[in-house]
Formats: sequence, structure tokens, C-alpha cells
Amino acid sequence: MGAAPSIGIVGGGQLAWMLAEAARRRGVELHVQTPGAQDPAVSLATSVIQADVRDVAATRELASRCSAVSFENEWVDLDGLAPLAADGVRFFPNLEALRPLVCKRSQRELLNRFNLPSPAWFPLERVHEPPEPAEPADGGSNAAAIPNPAPAAASPQLPPGFAYPLMAKAASGGYDGKGTAVLRSDADLDGLLARVDASNWIVEEFVSFELELAVVAARDQFGDVVCLPVVQTHQHQQVCDWVLAPYEAPHALQQAVRNMAASLLTALNYVGVLSIELFYGPRGLMINELAPRTHNSGHYSIEACDLSQFDLQLLAVSGQQLSEPALQSPGALMVNLLGFEARGAEDPAAAYEGQRQALAALPDAHLHWYGKAGASLGRKLGHVTLLLQQRDPAARRQEAMERLEQVRQIWPLPPGSEADQSA
Ligand code: ADP
Repeated sequence: MGAAPSIGIVGGGQLAWMLAEAARRRGVELHVQTPGAQDPAVSLATSVIQADVRDVAATRELASRCSAVSFENEWVDLDGLAPLAADGVRFFPNLEALRPLVCKRSQRELLNRFNLPSPAWFPLERVHEPPEPAEPADGGSNAAAIPNPAPAAASPQLPPGFAYPLMAKAASGGYDGKGTAVLRSDADLDGLLARVDASNWIVEEFVSFELELAVVAARDQFGDVVCLPVVQTHQHQQVCDWVLAPYEAPHALQQAVRNMAASLLTALNYVGVLSIELFYGPRGLMINELAPRTHNSGHYSIEACDLSQFDLQLLAVSGQQLSEPALQSPGALMVNLLGFEARGAEDPAAAYEGQRQALAALPDAHLHWYGKAGASLGRKLGHVTLLLQQRDPAARRQEAMERLEQVRQIWPLPPGSEADQSA
């Protein structure tokens, strides 16, 4: 009769809160390191270390309370944590597996190295480099006659092969569309250069996709990889709005997504849950982003699958074998509840009480209210998962759109906020 497994988690937001719920159900102790006494996971944690997530001394204390440590998100001080790993603290995923994933630039480099399809990109700093001299098409017979223009003080220039529109992204620190900017012209580029640190930004081709898909994958300590079903995600102003599970993809597509996930996890010797956001369109599948953690696109699994993404994380981190999760209902629609008005800043639960009751009363609806201490326009305050009944994919999509409309009647989208879309 072994002691209950005990896990430490760095971070105490809604992902840690849902992990703590799963931990309670499974009899796993969950110790949390988080800065705020009111943070969502605090009320469910076995114990709390109230400290910033980058406070390494606090993580050392956290590690002393449990047998393995994991992370709520990728904002991790890897160099600061390295001495803990050297002293035997067991991090899952391990710090070296996390290293290429904690910033969007190193993710892009990783995907290029693995030859996994992803948007073409360049570091923003490159617009200041003088253009490479063009190779004369005729073999260069006249090359000596053309004087080379002075490269100094040149205005910013896109590297060869890139054209507007482009998508600029902060390499680190961005989330939910904060830290992204669409560039449509040289003027947009100049404006971005004037307001950001170019060394922390990358620029990508703007992908004209048909759909956005996502998958949550997990690898256990024995090396086995399992995946939740592939889902369709829909964004509003670059923030996830709803997720439809499963996306009825042809088998070849499902298999391609699984292969990408298994290759990545295995090559990185990664243990735990990793989420992959994908673009799907005329150019096939492209990886948009990797999230080394549980993810908004997997929340539906709490009710819709026999093993949720949080169960997978707990099992993998505590050294148990994973089995393939299966849907327990024909499908599910998850809708994010984004703060849609400025009021409620102090007490969002009270401000949105009527809406919460109405959502919870919808048939087959499961409301998750994150209990955040403050609300603002566009902030994720909770989500609702609606289990779908239709077995035929087209009928189920129709059912999902009808159910989305029911939610919208109660909980509208936040009004357009341009500020959210740029740095
Ligand atoms: P964040 O980390 O802030 O969520 P993402 O990189 O996931 O940022 O981008 C948010 C959304 O912006 C994506 O879901 C997609 O809708 C859109 N987007 C991101 N990159 C591109 C791109 N290269 N081309 C077109 N749309 C993009």
C-alpha cells in the first residue's frame, strides 16, 4: 500500500485548477506554487507555496513536498531550475525537452530542424540586414559595371520571398493573441519596429488556412504516446472562442497528426501532455504552435472522454502507463466564456451570476467557472462544455452550431478590441 502520489505544479491558474480537480478524483496530492492567494487552484490544492512562478527557491520548497514537479505553462526559468534538476528534482517534462518549446522562435527552429511543416518565418531583426546581392541571371557578365548601393541606413526591408500580409509575433511572453500583430504594409512594419524590441519578435507568412485544428498528445515514462481526438478550434480576435470535438478528419489526416505528435514527443524525450495547434488548408497541415502543457483545446475531454487531458498529465507525471483515451459521447462543443463587459472587475462571479445560472441550466451543459478574482474585457473567466448527441458528423456539426447559438444568447462575445490584437 504505497503512499498517495504527490505532484507539484508551478502555476495556479485555471489549468492548475482543473488539474487539481482531476487530482482530487484520483487521490493524487497536488501542491501548487502560485503568486496570488486568490488564484484559481489555491482552493483545491493540497498545499500552496505563495510565490511567483519564476521564484526558484520556492520551486525547491515545492519539490521537497512531492515526488515530481510539472508546470502549468511555459513561462519557466529553465536556467534557474537547472541546479534543482542536477540535485535530483524530477521535472516532467524535463528541462531539456522544454528548452526549445518555451519561446516561439526556438519552436520554429525546432520544427524546421525536424522538417515538420510550419509557416515560413524570419527573425524581425533581419529587416535591418542589407539585402544579399542578387545573383545576375546571365552569369554575371555585367556585374562589375553596376556600382553596389551603400547598405548603410537602408530602410527596413522584407527578406526575399516574403510579402505582405505577414503575422508578427513576440517570441516570448505572448498568449491569446496578445503579442501578435498583422503587418499589411511597410508602415505597419515601421510602426512595429518603433514599439517593440525586435530581438524578441519573429515574422511569419500569413497562412490562408481553411480550418484550425488541434490535438492534445501525451507521452508516459515508458515512452508510449497517446492522443485525444483531433478537434477543430475557432478563434475570435485571435483568442480561442470554441472547440468542436471530434473533427471528423479522414483517417490519413488523423494519422498524420498522430505521427507528428509521436515524432516530436519521442525526439524530445518528453513526458507529459503537449498540445499542437495546426492550420489546415490547401497546403495541407502546418503546425502553428506547440504548447508544452494542457491546453484550452483539450478542456472538452473532462466530460467527453474516459481520460481527460488532466488525467493524462497526472498519470504521466506520476509514472503510470497511459492508455488511449476514448470519447464517451458522440462529440462535444466547448465554448470559452470571455469577459464581455467592463463591469465585474472586482467580483466577476457576482457580476455574471445570472449568465452562469442560465448556462448551467442548459441541457447536457457543464459549466466551469475559474473563480478568478478580477474580470476584464476578453479575459477567460470560464468555459462551458455541451455534450453532443448526433452520431452523423454533418448532423453533429449542425447540432453544435445550434448549441453555440444558445450559449451566445446568454453569453455574447466581447466587443471588438483592437488593443488585444497588437503588442
Ligand atoms: P497566441 O500564442 O497568442 O495564442 P498564436 O500564434 O496561437 O498566438 O496565434 C493566435 C491566432 O492567430 C491563431 O490561432 C490564428 O488564428 C492566427 N494566426 C497565428 N499565426 C498565423 C499565421 N501565420 N497566419 C495566419 N493566422 C495566424
